[in-house]
Amino acid sequence: MAVLVFILGTILGSFYLVVGKRLPIKENAINSRSKCDNCNHVLGWWQLIPIFSYVILRGKCHYCHQRINPLHLLIEVVTGGLFSFAYLYYGVCYEMLIFLIVSSVTLIIFISDFSYYIILDSPLVVGSILVFATKWYYLGINDALISLISGLGLFASMYLIKIIGDVLFKRESLGGGDIKFAFVMGMILGYRLGLCSLILSTFLALPYSCAALMLKKNNEVPYGPFLASSLFVVFVFIEKFNSLLNLIFVSL
Ligand SMILES: [Zn+2]
Repeated sequence: MAVLVFILGTILGSFYLVVGKRLPIKENAINSRSKCDNCNHVLGWWQLIPIFSYVILRGKCHYCHQRINPLHLLIEVVTGGLFSFAYLYYGVCYEMLIFLIVSSVTLIIFISDFSYYIILDSPLVVGSILVFATKWYYLGINDALISLISGLGLFASMYLIKIIGDVLFKRESLGGGDIKFAFVMGMILGYRLGLCSLILSTFLALPYSCAALMLKKNNEVPYGPFLASSLFVVFVFIEKFNSLLNLIFVSL
């Protein structure tokens, strides 16, 4: 069963790759045939099997022999790994489903934000709907509505941070995608843990930002991957973060 879940993960992983790579440049992700990034040759079915094709082709295009971006293999393996981890660690339950949604949205944002500095709306919209439906099914409509309000709360907080940042730095401080992502974060984690996750993301982004500032003049940082990673970390260690927050509140 875990192997089947792994295979399903690799298939979805190569789909996320297509979504993250094609949607930002307004290419149809579902209907158009997959092509080589280099020679644009349309790929046959046997060149589209996750992991297997990469190994058979020895990481090179069958037609032009250009190296295939190793990111493809990485995303497929990571998605498969995350999916089977969720199945083995949680079993089929509420946490597993939320984990799958979180990792899927995270992966697509990683791909599109690192490649184009774009956080797509569609994975956020689909992710929020899935989270709402999962919460409704497992926890009831009240919890689902509370998560919606938490999402709006975190969205508003992030928007406030952006306004303050824009005034302080006299330029756009946060992208629209980052603010929309805060909504999903609030929906999944609730307001308190969502805020906690926002703070964590700034620490995660700090080393990258410093390196980017030192290496090149460009001081633009794709913030989405760091938001997504901190959402991921807080969700996996949710109990630990909850008790940490309670400890802080008690001592205050
Ligand atoms: Zn090629």
